[in-house]
Amino acid sequence: MEREKLEVDVLFVGAGPASLASALHLSRLIREHNEAVESGAKSGGKLSDPTLLVIEKGREIGSHALSGAVIDPRAFDELLEGFDGEEPPYDSPVDDDALYILSKNKSFRSPVTPPPLKNHGYYVASLGKIVKWLAALCEKNGIDVFPEFPAVELLYEGDSVVGVRMGDKGIDKNGNPKPNVEPGMDVLAKLTVLGEGPRGTLTLQAERRFRLNEGRHPQIYALGVKEIWRAARKIQPGVVYHTLGFPLGTQEFGGGFVYTMKDNLINLGFVVGLDYENPRLDGHQIFQQFKTHPFIREMLKGGEVLSYGAKAIPEGGYYSMPRVYADGLLIVGDSGGFMNAQRLKGIHLAVKSGMLAAETLFEALLQEDYSQVVLQSYADRFERSWAKKELWKVRNFRQAFQRGFWSGMFHAGLQFLTNGRGIKDPFPTLPGHTQMKPFKEYFRETDVKPEKMVFDGQLTFDKLTDVYYSNTAHEEDQPCHLKILDFDICNNRCSNEYGNPCQHFCPAHVYEMVGQDNQLRLQLNFSNCVHCKTCDIMDPYQIIVWTPPEGGGGPDYKNM
Ligand code: SF4
Repeated sequence: MEREKLEVDVLFVGAGPASLASALHLSRLIREHNEAVESGAKSGGKLSDPTLLVIEKGREIGSHALSGAVIDPRAFDELLEGFDGEEPPYDSPVDDDALYILSKNKSFRSPVTPPPLKNHGYYVASLGKIVKWLAALCEKNGIDVFPEFPAVELLYEGDSVVGVRMGDKGIDKNGNPKPNVEPGMDVLAKLTVLGEGPRGTLTLQAERRFRLNEGRHPQIYALGVKEIWRAARKIQPGVVYHTLGFPLGTQEFGGGFVYTMKDNLINLGFVVGLDYENPRLDGHQIFQQFKTHPFIREMLKGGEVLSYGAKAIPEGGYYSMPRVYADGLLIVGDSGGFMNAQRLKGIHLAVKSGMLAAETLFEALLQEDYSQVVLQSYADRFERSWAKKELWKVRNFRQAFQRGFWSGMFHAGLQFLTNGRGIKDPFPTLPGHTQMKPFKEYFRETDVKPEKMVFDGQLTFDKLTDVYYSNTAHEEDQPCHLKILDFDICNNRCSNEYGNPCQHFCPAHVYEMVGQDNQLRLQLNFSNCVHCKTCDIMDPYQIIVWTPPEGGGGPDYKNM
């Protein structure tokens, strides 16, 4: 197929906070440089309007960014220094924060909020609104921002990245061209920045090709499942509660959160570490159980659910970050593991990583050298930054919880006293999927029926109802974007060994075992997929490969 080609100077893949902040900061550096050269304050030549392009696979900018985040404003304050009068559309300053310990029926407010969970001076915000505002600011500053552009492949010249290939449109589910077939274009760029979010498709390609994980620890992920509600009564915005305990036991890592916003909106969710042992663990069901606790039930009484979503979170921290540069390539935000699991915050680190990347991109454009000789200074900039200092203090935090809650608390305490060092530094890390135990080993019996929760449709919802609230849609007549490398393993080996955990860990009912008792086979309801990447991460055989579907597919989160 003949492919169109588009040439740009710098291409940003994924319109999240990291890429957009990076593009915006780069535009400022170019503008200030050119003004300084023009006025004679700086010697050398001007940069003649490099073309900057941000592409996004979602239907619209912000479609894949679910509302409800607590933002440390530090990085945004730095980013906006060059943009007079611009303010992020925060919803409310944090007014009250607390940690609650939940037993099955009781809640206990911790008299002291642990320092990492103190949020005074921060803001509750809708991430979707923040992303839309950043994209508009980028456009105002001459940056192109294109939604419905799913990048599927990195393009190389020798060992340098020279751009990306978009997915084809108009291919039917059997791989045949439809009348509206349109080959994906090649976007060629001197510099490509990957800000695809966690477990990005192109980031994985780059990690394999350039061995970016060599000498690093494996990434540890968590799954966050979330709903947005409108309360039936007036509520105070800016309240931030975190919870420990119910419905999790002491084996899994995780907890709940509640953030309130204006217009009586409540963002609530549950995060569970994707390094658990139970092959039947179901993050969506855990979240539904969480809502049945009297403390949460009371908040939601009479209210209505407005939106649902799920997302993987890279929690491994400093030692799990890949090398974030290669020839022609930089990696920012969640894709590069810029996330503080102890503070449950990543947006400020994503923005900062984008800014550090922008300073490196600027240097590369100025020197007309796009190789890693110049680009490695991105890693040096990070090492000198406050972002590194923040992540260094918690470098072993998440790893300590791989051996259960109490061990985690013990080590986290020691790490707190020793500036992150603890007893072992670095603390050993195991890939999450290797922690899952075979069915018989975990349950010690062969015939344990799954605990089926009854959803009442008012407080608790089944997966399909929640998928409806995520506004998820995909073109049905297209190749399935979930590539199963060996169905035989799913239908036979996995059924016997793990009981097909994909049915449980997917929060969108994509994986379903259908047929008669002894002859079950895997069916993929791919159009439900909310793009959380859990299957790609947690499948015990690592035979599920998540790939971007046709542009515009996926959730379309309402961003209140
Ligand atoms: Fe998440 Fe995979 Fe299910 Fe899609 S199919 S919702 S990526 S677990």
